[in-house]
Amino acid sequence: MRRKLAAGNWKMHGLATDLAEAETLARAHPAPTVDVLICPPATLLCRMVAALARKPIAVGAQDCHTAEKGAHTGDISAPMIADTGASAVILGHSERRADHAESSAQVAAKTIAAHAVGLTAIVCLGETEAQRDAGQTLAVVSEQLRLSLPEGANAENTVVAYEPVWAIGTGRTPTLDQIAEVHDHLRALLPDPNIRLLYGGSVKPANAAEIFAISNVDGALVGGASLKADDFGAIVAALEAAEGTGGAATP
Ligand code: PEP
Repeated sequence: MRRKLAAGNWKMHGLATDLAEAETLARAHPAPTVDVLICPPATLLCRMVAALARKPIAVGAQDCHTAEKGAHTGDISAPMIADTGASAVILGHSERRADHAESSAQVAAKTIAAHAVGLTAIVCLGETEAQRDAGQTLAVVSEQLRLSLPEGANAENTVVAYEPVWAIGTGRTPTLDQIAEVHDHLRALLPDPNIRLLYGGSVKPANAAEIFAISNVDGALVGGASLKADDFGAIVAALEAAEGTGGAATP
């Protein structure tokens, strides 16, 4: 059975004062019936872990290096992330694939590094608008999935997030049928059918319920709307309600 997951990606947002948003979220959702994760910037990892100690909200990072340690100025390794008390790491986000020319092979190597220290890898993939317009969506995500997931990826150590690049931070979302098509396609390709499949791209309180009603959507990776406790809390509540209806991902 797949337990649903609401994961927040703070990207390069957040100062110490913003930890209060996570604390507010934890107070508002003291016993969520879904998994909740916040991935702040690396500068806040330790303080976020401390702020959420003994709270049912997990903390994750947004990237890691493939190596355990070494001469890689500015990077952080998977053991360093685990050392903060964080339990997950986002890998292969389209902003990293675009800004840092990360290949799927590198994402797979990072995923191996994350697994080696017990971190859950949230592996992201998704098509560009040009690829969708060219009718290449299913081929693109299939290839990204094949190349980004290493041997040994399973439901215990890996989550996959389908994030159409053109929907991230734009306020635009695919139709529900388009999301369903990609999720159904990816589900059939997963090495472990119980790996959770998140949708990401402009998920908001206003559209969360209809997205979570889609079969094979096990939750969301949320950017902008995860920064404020009220918005992310509403998305968590929508996911809890979807789980309560006995959809594809009951715990
Ligand atoms: C993301 O960063 O993964 C994301 C989905 O962003 P947004 O929700 O802002 O579109």
